[in-house]
Amino acid sequence: MPGEQLMYIGGRWIPSQDGLWLDVYNPATGAVLARVPSACARDVDAACQAARTAFDAGVWPAMAERARARILFDAANLVRERRQQLAMLEVTNSGKPMQDALADVDEAAYLLEYYAGWITKLSGEVLPVGPDAMSLVLREPMGVVAAIVPWNYPLLMAMQKVAPALAAGCTVILKPAEQTPMTALELPEIFELAGLPSGVFNVVTGDGPGAGEPLVRHPMVDKISFTGSLEVGKRIQRIAADSVKRVTLELGGKSPNIIFSDADLERAIPGTCLGVFWNQGEVCSATARVYVEDGIFDRVVELIAQEAKKVRLGSGLDPATTMGPLISQSQKRRVEAYIQSAQDDGASLVVQGALPVNPELSGGFYVAPTVFVGAAKHSKIMMEEVFGPVMTLTRFTTESEVIDKANDTPYGLAAAVWTRQIDRGLRVGKAIRAGTVWINDSQPAPSEAPWGGYKQSGFGRELGRQGLEEFLETKHLFIRLH
Ligand code: ADP
Repeated sequence: MPGEQLMYIGGRWIPSQDGLWLDVYNPATGAVLARVPSACARDVDAACQAARTAFDAGVWPAMAERARARILFDAANLVRERRQQLAMLEVTNSGKPMQDALADVDEAAYLLEYYAGWITKLSGEVLPVGPDAMSLVLREPMGVVAAIVPWNYPLLMAMQKVAPALAAGCTVILKPAEQTPMTALELPEIFELAGLPSGVFNVVTGDGPGAGEPLVRHPMVDKISFTGSLEVGKRIQRIAADSVKRVTLELGGKSPNIIFSDADLERAIPGTCLGVFWNQGEVCSATARVYVEDGIFDRVVELIAQEAKKVRLGSGLDPATTMGPLISQSQKRRVEAYIQSAQDDGASLVVQGALPVNPELSGGFYVAPTVFVGAAKHSKIMMEEVFGPVMTLTRFTTESEVIDKANDTPYGLAAAVWTRQIDRGLRVGKAIRAGTVWINDSQPAPSEAPWGGYKQSGFGRELGRQGLEEFLETKHLFIRLH
């Protein structure tokens, strides 16, 4: 019998006031893992009241900086102490391989430390406004933050928002994705043990329409930090406009990966595969549109095919697994529909990897690595985000041609460029309209560096100093001296 997990509002563990529940699955087997409250608008209201009261009473924003930092450092230590348990929950709930889940937990702990460090270093400015006055620029917390996160990196995405929001002095309502609430529900105890006052951090579980949207509409919320689909992002921006809420949107991508003929293929081939197959391709920055210079195209197709065939699908708990299942049955169907559409639009299948044979995994949501050549320029597979392990390989001849191709997308989250000529790497990197460009790598997102999109991949930045500033207001204090 799967266990019941309550949600956490105002320092108390509670069910939904409507008495409704959501089943949470293990995507490796299709079995129900647990059930969590399906929050309704009244629950969201309670969470917003708790976060608002904690903010307005100053229990967190007015606490001494070093005391606030201490709490986040202690929380980081608690995350590290619970590393195995958190990773195990992440694997069973999200499907990702154990080594990836462990890396996510480590980075979540580091994010708490990184932003804890900022608390005692953040400063304002004094501006030159003449001899008779003084202008001070203060950085103040924005207030109550709604953090709405997706299911592909449940703990990490939550922490990318929660750590800087808390460091800024904000209070937080976290809404994990309905598919993956399990690690988010471990955070309240961690923060409580670290000494965070009640009401400062709340977790509301539920789906988008039932819990996410009331949060976005709630008048007590000052700032929404959202990571998810383009459609929901647009909807949130529209709703937020009614009360001029501050919004950060981290949306989808259809990122290019460019391999020049002088690239070091020993790095470029595994790097390119990782760029599309890592985390089952459920990565907003997946570099799924692969462009290869004409002279090496056939060779690269062959090498990518060999590399893709090495991927071992299975349960994330099996140490031999390098790729887990997709998150849900509906995501599996969606990805399979994209694979079908690519074929219908004339692309040729070069590789389709093997599915797991273990009968215990027959109910899991597996899709094998899939590689196409010859996809038509503006076909769905070239334009839309698949969020699955599907790659297209396309030829190019000149640098300017490939820059045009790379930019031929409504998105602009990331790009990868593989070349031994650093001047070319930098030139192409500057010409691509995307928030992150990797040269001779794909996918690193260091917590110290800003992360976010150009164009319809969203706006605002997470991580780094910029990720903290998203949760700060700027105040000007003017003082007349004479
Ligand atoms: P995905 O396609 O990755 O599931 P979504 O954008 O649907 O992405 O979901 C990302 C997060 O946004 C989840 O936590 C989900 O519950 C939430 N969400 C979905 N719809 C809404 C909505 N209308 N308002 C607020 N949050 C929503």
